[in-house]
Amino acid sequence: MVLDTATLRIAFGVMALVLGLLFYFSSYRITRSPYSGWWCLALLFFLGGSAAFLLNGTTHQWWAGPLGNVLLVQGGVAVWAGARSLRELPPKRWVFTAVPVATLVATAVDHPATNVWAGGAVFLAGMCLTLGLASQELWRLEPGYSRVRVPMAAAAAAISAFYLARLVFFLLEGQHGPIFVTYFGSAVTTMITMVLLVVVSFSMAGLSTEQQTRALRMVATRDDLTGLLNRKAFVDLAAGLLKDRAVTQGTGALILADLDHFKAVNDTHGHAAGDLALQAFAGACQDTVRSTDLVGRYGGEEFVLLIPGGSALRAEHIAEEISRRLAQVPTADGLEMPTVSYGVALYDAGTADVEDLIAAADEALYTAKSLGRNRTVHSDRRG
Ligand code: GH3
Ligand code: MG
Ligand code: MG
Repeated sequence: MVLDTATLRIAFGVMALVLGLLFYFSSYRITRSPYSGWWCLALLFFLGGSAAFLLNGTTHQWWAGPLGNVLLVQGGVAVWAGARSLRELPPKRWVFTAVPVATLVATAVDHPATNVWAGGAVFLAGMCLTLGLASQELWRLEPGYSRVRVPMAAAAAAISAFYLARLVFFLLEGQHGPIFVTYFGSAVTTMITMVLLVVVSFSMAGLSTEQQTRALRMVATRDDLTGLLNRKAFVDLAAGLLKDRAVTQGTGALILADLDHFKAVNDTHGHAAGDLALQAFAGACQDTVRSTDLVGRYGGEEFVLLIPGGSALRAEHIAEEISRRLAQVPTADGLEMPTVSYGVALYDAGTADVEDLIAAADEALYTAKSLGRNRTVHSDRRG
């Protein structure tokens, strides 16, 4: 059985179309995850590129050849952009425009009407580069994505390496060279690409769901206004940390903070100004503590911090530093940032319950308020 390149291209195009449709309806329409959106787009580009190449050898070759090259390279860029979106990074603009434009120019000036392989070297290099970058992005994903990370990164690396080999033999032997035609010609490439597209699409479905789950988890654990942990997430994580003695070293501090006379800020400057003050306070907290400490919005204008390994003195310094930073936040329209009262409770190896710890800090906070606000009070009982 002899499969000519045109037949293979048609098979490839049909497969890309079916995969693209399946993907669109079963994944992107449901999850709206950026990754599956990019993958649908990539399949569309591959389909278009492959279709354009069917016009090779006809009177349309002069425009279909350059178009095919650009579409396939654009598909590579979409794969790369999708891989980047998994790390929540935007696509890099220069690859977006530079690679397709370079491919177009190189193809257009290389007699595309008569030369089927016009711009071949730049096209092959573009595919190698974009798919290589995609593979690199996938390798860099955190190991949480391990289920699908490895096969996808390996598939992208394999196809990038294949394009590199094509490029090398294209440069060494030219388009009619025996090794290039036998091992790296259009027919072989189409077959290999088909297999890899299936591998990637299959893994992709899992990945899209995973990406969406992560986004949902993010929404479920974060406070909308400040981006801090919400109350439930804070309590859950703090309970976990209290159990993990290796992290807490047995002791630490919990700080409960409440903005002073916050209602007056709302009443005088409006709710939006109040929101700004809450965001500024959240920023001051995050700038002050270490990444291993926990910061949450406990509710309204109350915030809570867990400082594993922190002493009473360290908690006091943290409170002072947060208030200092808040007071320095630039404001408009005569808005003055409120002062803050803090209640601190320490925990040790015997502390099991976060809620008890918070209750102890809350008592201290109440004392701070009744003593005139803008101060830190330490609880005299252990949580
Ligand atoms: P105290 O010094 O005793 O803590 O007085 P306070 O005015 O800060 O305390 P109070 O509990 O009387 O008022 C808290 C205010 O916080 C009332 C509420 O409208 C406001 N608040 C709660 N959540 C938000 C929010 O998300 N945005 C804004 N702008 N205000 C909020
Ligand atoms: Mg309050
Ligand atoms: Mg208050």
